[in-house]
Amino acid sequence: MNQNINSALKRIELSKKAISEAEEILATLLQGDAVPSVEEPEPARDPVEVVSEVFDVVDKTPPRQDLECYLCGNKVFDNRPQKASGEYKETSPDFVCSNRDTCSGIKQGQYGVLRKSWWLNSKDLPQEWIKTVVPKADPEDTVSTDSPFDNNNSEESEDFTF
Ligand SMILES: [Zn+2]
Repeated sequence: MNQNINSALKRIELSKKAISEAEEILATLLQGDAVPSVEEPEPARDPVEVVSEVFDVVDKTPPRQDLECYLCGNKVFDNRPQKASGEYKETSPDFVCSNRDTCSGIKQGQYGVLRKSWWLNSKDLPQEWIKTVVPKADPEDTVSTDSPFDNNNSEESEDFTF
């Protein structure tokens, strides 16, 4: 009889131990990595953001690659995209001659030679450099239409010739 009581008490002790061990494991899980996974972002959110990023691309002015210094004939760098992106300082020139040796526009600055530079508001900036160049459309990309407006009165079309 006593033996039975003793073995029953032992089993109760073992059960208590097992429960407290399980509680510890659970507490560790709740404090640790298990918590952030509970706060996952709503599944619908991410795909929507990706789509808006695709369409909200900033329209950058492509750098002009065809600019020549009118003083020395060397290539002129168009730094406008780098200024807009913050890579170059706000005060840095928009256009810089690549010639650091023989260009007549070189100036001796406080910290060394300054290449010929232009800002958008420089009086000697060739306006041709900042005008938008629209490439000629490929004939294959254009659609010719037999529009009734083609045979319109000539007075109106004269307004469009310069
Ligand atoms: Zn130059």
